[in-house]
Amino acid sequence: MFKIKILDEFNAAHNLRGYRGRCEQLHGHNWKVEVIISGDRLNRVGLLMDFRKLRSRLKKVLKKLDHKYLNNIAYFRKRNPTSENIARYIFENLKSQVTNLELVVVWESDDSSASYYGR
Ligand SMILES: [Zn+2]
Repeated sequence: MFKIKILDEFNAAHNLRGYRGRCEQLHGHNWKVEVIISGDRLNRVGLLMDFRKLRSRLKKVLKKLDHKYLNNIAYFRKRNPTSENIARYIFENLKSQVTNLELVVVWESDDSSASYYGR
């Protein structure tokens, strides 16, 4: 199996409803986002997927989140904009455009991440 990974980031604000602690208040993060795809077949050039294509598709998804107050985005009205739900949002927005999408990892700080993978 082959695996490739790209890394990008976005900057946004959120607050967590119903959470007792500092994250209940409005604050921001520089979220780092890893996208991993895997597969056993390479194209005729020998690539699993062109990094540039993958990167530009991720950029389009992150553009909807960058410099936004995440609680105002429809997707996060029903569910809190936690790193877990952000990972799921990115996964669901990418999966129709990226074959073999395996995992989305969202880092909210240098030592804390959440990830989502689906079918
Ligand atoms: Zn937070």
